[in-house]
Amino acid sequence: MTRSSELFDRAKRVLPGGVNSPVRAFRAVGGTPFFVAHGHGSSLADVDGHEYLDYVCSWGALILGHAHPAVLDAVRAAAARGWTYGAPCEAEVDLAEEVRRRIPSLEMMRFVNSGTEATMAAVRLARAVTGRELILKFEGCYHGHADSFLVKAGSGVATLGLPDSPGVPAGLASLTLTAPFNDARAVADLFREHGGRIAAIIVEPYVGNAGFIAPESDFHPALRDVCDQYGALLIFDEVMTGFRVAAGGAQERLGVKPDLTTLGKIVGGGFPVGVYGGRADLMKRVAPEGPVYQAGTLSGNPVAMAAGLATLRETSRPGFYEALEKRTARLVAGLRTAAERRGIAITAAYTGSMWGAYFTAGPVNNYGEAQQSDAAFFARWHKAALARGVFLAPSAFEAGFVSSAHSDADIDFTITELDAALGEARGR
Ligand SMILES: *Cc1c(COP(=O)(O)O)cnc(C)c1O
Repeated sequence: MTRSSELFDRAKRVLPGGVNSPVRAFRAVGGTPFFVAHGHGSSLADVDGHEYLDYVCSWGALILGHAHPAVLDAVRAAAARGWTYGAPCEAEVDLAEEVRRRIPSLEMMRFVNSGTEATMAAVRLARAVTGRELILKFEGCYHGHADSFLVKAGSGVATLGLPDSPGVPAGLASLTLTAPFNDARAVADLFREHGGRIAAIIVEPYVGNAGFIAPESDFHPALRDVCDQYGALLIFDEVMTGFRVAAGGAQERLGVKPDLTTLGKIVGGGFPVGVYGGRADLMKRVAPEGPVYQAGTLSGNPVAMAAGLATLRETSRPGFYEALEKRTARLVAGLRTAAERRGIAITAAYTGSMWGAYFTAGPVNNYGEAQQSDAAFFARWHKAALARGVFLAPSAFEAGFVSSAHSDADIDFTITELDAALGEARGR
């Protein structure tokens, strides 16, 4: 019996499914999860002494890889000054200014402790300022686990095949409209029917929670137009794409300006931070400046702010995003070539350092098409890759991430091992 499986048995007695976030339990791919002993750079080591090249990167939070020295120094220095004050500190202002410099549409913002909190608060604000109750989201997009979003959601919800979650009041779920991603016509139809009652569209500008799906070029401009036409707000949920697909997030890449943006993952450098922000006239409606209530005991935590700021500074180095995208492109091209050579249908794509592969001939432009992917094949491939030292997200419906700690040699190793794993998954 391995140390990981011993720990998993203990964990299952005290934690539902043995984990604190469902996909970590490996149910979508079979087997049991490894327990991490430590992470360093591009790799994770488990408690049994195995090493894995890590393409999960804490679900995208670690764009610099594990235990980056600059972030570690910042965290140590901050912690030595005390780790939570319950009163304002300079680091909150520093990080807010840096976020606004990088993503100017966040004229003002509020720090929270997770992406879930950020999207919840953004929707509350959108409902408050518009005086409307409906929101529109896209099938397969994941916006955290708040009640309103567990309607045709991606990530673990998709993985586990739960259409919704018990415990979400039907009355609340009925306020969430859904449309297929990349389908501007469906959105227009919904607005024609309900336009006067829709507070906001919330969208993952690049979908990363149903595997990876890029938007068609006219999709986001169409969302912007329909929101303007009907007086609804456009919310970009950039919890995953922010500081990931470009220095200024998806909105810089797409050239579309949302009214509100949510951030998480990278902005905390691997510590629990979420952000919601946007137009100053909207953010001024947030308490105490305005009436829309939202608060947090640990929000603006000085250690988390320091980690976020150190991470953003590292990613501001000239050429940072170009180098990362180049490596990601090479990985995806290598994987595509390997699959094609073996006659395995694949649709692989990337933007910045976010990537994904579906085992289907494609195209994959929405969640329905993503579900054509051969999940049983993925599960076998995942297992074979793990045994060869490559850790992919344990679900066919999650994006992968490359960090700046992934070297060219790491990418070469990964292509070779993923290729061999394809052969094993296919059984020849
Ligand atoms: C991860 C994620 C969330 C939820 O963030 P948590 O910190 O897990 O609550 C929300 N939206 C998107 C797009 C995400 O990728």
